[in-house]
Amino acid sequence: MAANITTISESKEVRGLNLIAAHSHIRGLGVDATTLDVRNQAQGLVGQQKARKAAAVILQMVKDGKIAGRAMLISGPPSTGKTAIAMGMAQSLGPDVPFTMLASSEIFSLEMSKTEALTQAFRKSIGVRIKEESEIIEGEVVEIQIDRSVSGGNKQGKLTIKTTDMETVYDMGTKMIDSMTKEKVIAGDVITIDKSSGKISKLGRSYTRSRDYDAMGADTKFVQCPEGELQVRKEVVHTVSLHEIDVINSRTQGFLALFSGDTGEIRSEVRDQINTKVGEWKEEGKAEIIPGVLFIDEVHMLDIECFSYINRALEAELAPVVIMASNRGNARIRGTDYRSPHGLPLDFLDRVVIVSTQPYSADDISQILAIRAQEEEVDLSADALALLTKIGQEAGLRYASNLITTSTLLSQKRKAKEISIDDIQRSFRLFYDPARSAKFVSDSEKSLIS
Ligand code: ATP
Repeated sequence: MAANITTISESKEVRGLNLIAAHSHIRGLGVDATTLDVRNQAQGLVGQQKARKAAAVILQMVKDGKIAGRAMLISGPPSTGKTAIAMGMAQSLGPDVPFTMLASSEIFSLEMSKTEALTQAFRKSIGVRIKEESEIIEGEVVEIQIDRSVSGGNKQGKLTIKTTDMETVYDMGTKMIDSMTKEKVIAGDVITIDKSSGKISKLGRSYTRSRDYDAMGADTKFVQCPEGELQVRKEVVHTVSLHEIDVINSRTQGFLALFSGDTGEIRSEVRDQINTKVGEWKEEGKAEIIPGVLFIDEVHMLDIECFSYINRALEAELAPVVIMASNRGNARIRGTDYRSPHGLPLDFLDRVVIVSTQPYSADDISQILAIRAQEEEVDLSADALALLTKIGQEAGLRYASNLITTSTLLSQKRKAKEISIDDIQRSFRLFYDPARSAKFVSDSEKSLIS
C-alpha cells in the first residue's frame, strides 16, 4: 500500500500481501466529492459507476458521522470489484485511517474464539491519533534572519529560520536578534541567543521550558527557556490502532507480539482500561479517535453468533465503519436452518445499506487489465490484451489478471520487451482457472472409475 503508517498497514495484511498487490492500482473511488460525478475510469477504478457513486454517498455519511450503527454490504458476482470498491473507499478516507480486511473463514481458523477474533478485527479498525510535542527542526540551518520593524509605535520582530528541509517564520515580538549562523539543529537541541552580541549558537540538550512563543508555523513552537535559550519544538502525530494499544499493554503478550502477529486472546479488563485511558487522552486534547473501515469479505460464511456480535458492536461508542461483501444470493444462515438474502439474519439486514456490483463489459475488462499491466510495469501487445480480455470474460478478471504476472515471467525469459499473445497462450496452458481445473479432475475421475 502507498504511504501508510506502518502500524496501521499491519492490519491491512490480515489476508496477506497478494490481496493487497491485486488492488495496488486503486487510489480512490474516482468520484467527485462535491458533484458526485463518476468518470468511467478514475483513480484506478473502471466502470461500476452506480456502485461507486453509492459508495461515495456512504463515504460522505461516514465523514459526516451519520452512519453510526449501520453497515454496508456490497453484493455481486465474483470478481466484479467488491473488494476493489471497499479499497477505493478506504483510500478516500485518508492515509492514516485504519483499514482492516478480514476473510470470514479466518474467524474459524484462528486459534482464538470467534468473538475474540472479531473484537480484534474491530479494534484494529479504530485508530487513535496521538499528538506529541517533540523538539525538532530537522536539517542544517542555512539562514537565520531577523527582520525588525516598528509599527504603530510597537517594535515587532520576525525570525526566519531556513534549514535544508524547511523554512519557518516566527513572530518574535520585540526580541533582539541580529546574527546569522550555520548550525545543524537536531531533535532536542536548544538554540541560545546571546543578548549582547545577538549571536545565535547551539547548546546541548535541555528540556527546561517556560513560556511558549507564538509561532506562525502551524505546528512548530519556540519555547523560551529561563536562561534566554530558545528551543524549537514541533508537534508530531502518530496513529496507532486500539488493538495495538491493547497488545502493548497486555501483560501476558507485550509489544513483541505485534511483530510475531501472535497476539492470542486479550483480557477484557485490559481493553476496559485502554478505553478509559484513551477517553482521558481525548478529553485532554492529547488524542483523537479515528473510526476506520473493517472490510469483511465472504460475509455469508459467518454464523449467527458472529452476526449477533457485530449487531452489538455496531452500537458501541467506538465502532468502525463495517463494509461487507458477498457473492451469494439466498443462502443458509450458518448455525441455523433458515435461508435469507446473502445468508444474513433479517434483523441484521435491517441495518445494512446494500450496494450492488454488475458483471463487466468487455471494454471495462480490457481497461482494467491494461491498468493492471501498467501497475506491474509491463507492456502488452494489442492482440495479447484482446486475448486476455476474452479470458477475463470467460474465466474472471482475477484469473486474467494473474496471467499477466505469469506471462511476464515467460516474456522475460525470452528477453522480450512486451508480452505477446504466445506468452498469454503458454501461461493459459500452464495455469488453470478453477472451472477448467475442476473439469480436468472430474474427467480423470470418470476415466479412473470406468
Ligand atoms: P469475489 O466475490 O470473488 O471476492 P470481488 O468482487 O471482491 O470478488 P475484486 O477482488 O475486487 O472482486 O476484483 C478482482 C480483481 O479485479 C482485483 O484485482 C481488482 O482490483 C480488480 N478490479 C475489479 N473491479 C475493478 C474495477 N472496477 N476497476 C479496477 N479494478 C478492478
